[in-house]
Formats: sequence, structure tokens, C-alpha cells
Amino acid sequence: MQQYEDYINWRRTFHQFPELSDAEYETTKRIRRILESFDIKVLDLPLETGLVAEIGQGDQLVAVRSDIDALPINEQVVHEFTSTNEGVMHACGHDIHMASVLAVATRLKEIESQLNGRVRIIFQPAEELGYGAVNIANTGAIEGAKAVLGYHNYPTMDIGEFAVKSGVITSSVDRFEFKIKGKGAHAAKPEQGNDPVIVLGQLINSVQSIVSRNLSAFDNAVVTIGEVSSGNTWNVIADEAYVQGTVRSFDEAKRTMIEERLKSIGRGLSEAFDVEIETLYHRLPGAVINDEKLTNDAITVAKEVGYEVHVMDLPLTIGEDFSGFSNKYPSVFVFIGSNSEYDLHHPKYDPDERILEKVPEYFVTFVQKLLNEA
Ligand SMILES: [Zn+2]
Ligand SMILES: [Zn+2]
Repeated sequence: MQQYEDYINWRRTFHQFPELSDAEYETTKRIRRILESFDIKVLDLPLETGLVAEIGQGDQLVAVRSDIDALPINEQVVHEFTSTNEGVMHACGHDIHMASVLAVATRLKEIESQLNGRVRIIFQPAEELGYGAVNIANTGAIEGAKAVLGYHNYPTMDIGEFAVKSGVITSSVDRFEFKIKGKGAHAAKPEQGNDPVIVLGQLINSVQSIVSRNLSAFDNAVVTIGEVSSGNTWNVIADEAYVQGTVRSFDEAKRTMIEERLKSIGRGLSEAFDVEIETLYHRLPGAVINDEKLTNDAITVAKEVGYEVHVMDLPLTIGEDFSGFSNKYPSVFVFIGSNSEYDLHHPKYDPDERILEKVPEYFVTFVQKLLNEA
């Protein structure tokens, strides 16, 4: 029977050898080795990285998910298991997720003969790129699942704290780009060119009118421009400009409206200033939607295992590709405190490992409850 110390060791090893999205080869091998050392079956799926394991028998199916990828960040935390892969860091705590979900797998394996159904344990790649979950769902590996369970560690909550809400819990994360092609000229002869910088200025203002003028006071969304570039010296009119940013929204209708408005602003400014504008809109993960019944179950189980439960009033404006599961199957995604002074995606992010004490118990209890329902 393995112990809490094993979970810590697993986590530290994952932390020491982080790998970027879609390149989690060694990570996948490490997960497989641990699972196989507990005699846990790994499904044969056409996946380059990531894997799905199975425990139990019978018709009912419940899935538990961990993500496995790290970020292109140079770690600034010093401990004996600091990342040895320069420029790559588990700064989102997916190392914590892997260790805890491995613990879930091994604990379920111990009680396999008592399980009233099957549990598929997902270790999915490329969460940070927003499509790993969809790719796993598309393999059919969890077809017919009555529930998909997942979590993210949450640095601003303390160890022992748990937060969830029914319905939408994280926003969709989209990216937009405007590529403006004008006509360069001598800075002293603007009449001979077609200045893309003027268009860029108009664009910034117009884009900010979407949330303020096209959304009701009772709806929410964020439109942020994160990058603007044009020109490279003081006395030349540039011939091109580039703008990119992100949209965070909470329902499909608003998401589509914002996408259409951005495109129509691109078309309108192109016409008004006689420049070419290419508007690109990339749909990344959608909003994660929690099933109401499963949310209530999650709250019951969390209290049972001793968490202090907070029911959230509002969703978060961060994205999570767990939506690739929640769009297809009844799901519940929760936040569990990891108490780090620095937030997710920060080079000094340093979660408290005591989070590993209770997470496995939450999932094991939850899985048993779901499989034992009539
Ligand atoms: Zn992340
Ligand atoms: Zn994450």
C-alpha cells in the first residue's frame, strides 16, 4: 500500500523534468511505468503523448482527469527538485494534478473488486494549448461516461479550501489578430502613402466599444489587446501594422457576437481607410460548464472528506480546456486550494504539497458514490 510520501516523490520528479505541451514523451512514460507497477491497465489509443488507464469492470463508466503539460517559463524557485529542463516549468501545477490523480488510480486499484463499474483515468497532454482534452474526447476513450471529474489547484486559496459553482465556471479563451496592409511612404509625404498606424489607432478604440456598447449591463466579457506593432523608425510611414488580443466570454451567443463585431470592425476600417485588413479569430477552449447534479454531489463529497466548501457567485475569467469534456459529457470541475504566494504561470509559483493529502480521497469517494448510485 503506497503512502503520501510516494505522491510527494511522484510530484517532485514530474516537477524536476517538465515538458512542453505536445512533447510530454518522458512524462507519459513515467506515468505509464507507475501505473504498470501497480498492475493498472493502460488503454491502447492512438496518442503521441498522454494516456488513458482503466480500473474496474462493468457497464457504468466514470472518468477522472489530470493534465500533464508544463509551460515555457524559467523557474525561479530554488528547491532540490527545481526544473532541470531550462526554460520549462510546471508553473500551472499539472505536476500536482498528475501525482494526485495517480494516487486516485492506485487507491481505486486496491478496491477494484468492489467497484460497481469502470473508471477511466485520463492523463491528457496540451492543456495549455487548449486542445488536449478535445483530442482525448475524440478518441472515444470515455464514450458513455456518466461523469467526468476534474480539478485545478488554486494558489490564492488555502490548503483545505474547495470552490465550485454550478453552470459556467471558467470563460472561453479566444485569440484575435488584425493584419493591416497599408502603403509606406516618406514621413514628410503622407499623401503618397496609406498610413496603417492611423488605422491601428482607430482599431484600438473601436474594439473597446464592443463590451461597452454591444453588451448589456447584465452580461460580461473581456476584450483585451495584448500586442500592437508597426513601423521601425521615426521618419518613415510604415506599410504594415499588427494587432492581437484575447476575448473571454461566458456563453456561446455572446462569443459569436463578439467574433462577428471584430470582423465587421476590420471590414469597416478597411473600407474607410482604403487599407487591406485581415481579421483572424481563433476559438480556443470554450467555457467549462458544470452539471448541476454533479456539482451538488461534489459539494457533498467535499464536505464529507473535510474540505471547507465555497460556492462561487461568479465564474473565473481564466480558461481551461476541460471544456473539451464538459461540452460532451456531464462533468464537474472544481478548484482546490494550493496556497502559493505567487499565482499560476508565475516563475515563483510554489504550491504547498499538503494539497496532496486530501485530493485523492475526494476523487476516490466521489467515484464510489457515482458508481454505487442506482
Ligand atoms: Zn496553465
Ligand atoms: Zn493548468
